[in-house]
Amino acid sequence: MRILVTGGAGFLGSNLCDRLINDGHEVICLDNFFTGRKANIAHLAGHPRFELVRHDVIDPFKFEVDQIYNLACPASPPHYQYNPIKTTKTSVMGAINCLGLAKRVRARVFQASTSEVYGDPHVHPQPEDYWGNVNPIGRRSCYDEGKRCAETLFFDYHRENKVDIRVIRIFNTYGPRMLPNDGRVVSNFIVQALRGDDLTIYGDGSQTRSFCYVDDLIEGFVRFMNQAEIVGPLNCGNPGEFTMLGLAEAVLKQVGGKSKIVHHPLPSDDPKQRRPDISLAKKVLGWEPKIPLEEGLKRAIAYFRTQI
Ligand code: NAD
Ligand code: UDP
Repeated sequence: MRILVTGGAGFLGSNLCDRLINDGHEVICLDNFFTGRKANIAHLAGHPRFELVRHDVIDPFKFEVDQIYNLACPASPPHYQYNPIKTTKTSVMGAINCLGLAKRVRARVFQASTSEVYGDPHVHPQPEDYWGNVNPIGRRSCYDEGKRCAETLFFDYHRENKVDIRVIRIFNTYGPRMLPNDGRVVSNFIVQALRGDDLTIYGDGSQTRSFCYVDDLIEGFVRFMNQAEIVGPLNCGNPGEFTMLGLAEAVLKQVGGKSKIVHHPLPSDDPKQRRPDISLAKKVLGWEPKIPLEEGLKRAIAYFRTQI
């Protein structure tokens, strides 16, 4: 197949491009390099089945493709809050442009949605039929509401125009090709520990997240995209749940060194707990994560050692 990956030079996008090339597909990677890097896909340059296009998803694009994975959007809070209006435009206009293209060329189109659509959840763990608890006007809203609106557009194009959609809700994922200055917690803690700096816990560190290693997530993407039973939304993530204090201790245990834990103020609207209910993915895809946090951290630490 010929497959378009928007945001293909980013953390998840570049890992997905590798997987699709290895599976024998032609890949068009579209990216504006806001948080993506050429280095993430440099090894694919010159590959006969790989093309790179510098383009912004808020402007329309046309390609003859069989499948579209829409991943373009900054994912780390400092990056998506840098230009919040642009973040909402990226999610909403990017979705419209991908859906318009999918409709025209009859391609199957995949939306990288997020656990952030559940906001600061009152239901725990979060199943797909939970509608969420999102502040519409806070610092995180540009991302959360942009992604919620993208989901709305996907389902309206599906109902109104019979566009063949797949909507996945990704929970916190980590691994090689995250930027050292990405700002998300796993990369922050690892980079701080490797540099001998103190680990910055926001708040008291009792808030929880569930961390999925990137290879497990990409396997979920491909299985979901290539089945015909459900269109989503589908939760994809690792149900293992950790406090930020527990994560900091796990990183320090592996890296060693002289770093201490320090506390910084908790950002506004920071969700207190998050864990995916992955019953649907298990049932329909026979998918569940295989790489536990300890092993994933080991691999991520090895990667970040090469970066700093
Ligand atoms: P990332 O920031 O590494 O990658 C995003 C990519 O999109 C980058 O290459 C960036 O340059 C590109 N991009 C941003 N705005 C663009 C625009 N207007 N036009 C074209 N390209 C643009 O983030 P990631 O972790 O790889 O996330 C990929 C997708 O998965 C995002 O849509 C994100 O919302 C979603 N997601 C990720 C996670 C996670 O834990 N990694 C969790 C939930 C959802
Ligand atoms: N966090 C932290 N220290 C950091 C970065 C983040 O304690 O250096 C916290 C953050 O407040 C949040 C959790 O870690 O509670 C996950 O943050 P991240 O930005 O990785 O993802 P998200 O909040 O979007 O799930």
